[in-house]
Amino acid sequence: MAEETIFSKIIRKEIPADVLYQDELVTAFRDINPRAPVHILVVPNKLIPTTNDVETDDELALGRMITVAKKLAADEGIAEDGYRLIMNCNQHGGQEVYHIHMHLVGGRALGPMVVG
Ligand code: AMP
Repeated sequence: MAEETIFSKIIRKEIPADVLYQDELVTAFRDINPRAPVHILVVPNKLIPTTNDVETDDELALGRMITVAKKLAADEGIAEDGYRLIMNCNQHGGQEVYHIHMHLVGGRALGPMVVG
């Protein structure tokens, strides 16, 4: 059984967060340490520790994460200029919170994708 993270508490509204969207599959809230003018996390309500743990049954929630990111990008006024969607996995990917999440980052030119 995977260990819960702070994100499960945010999803259950047990601790405060700037929640922008929630439905039966996903929750989206502003990152507490924004790296750009817009920095939102979109997470599945179900605890999936890493992208290595994703299963076929999760495909609906994973697809919803993208349609919600698209809606939030439009709401935030960054859809036309563009933005980046990022998912980090494990140590080499720089993952800090072991409940998968998609970073929606934008509001300025982000430069080349960082891989090094
Ligand atoms: P990652 O490195 O991909 O695991 O990203 C984890 C992200 O979660 C970081 O950008 C953190 O700033 C963010 N974060 C951690 N705790 C919170 C919290 N309580 N509310 C909102 N964002 C958080």
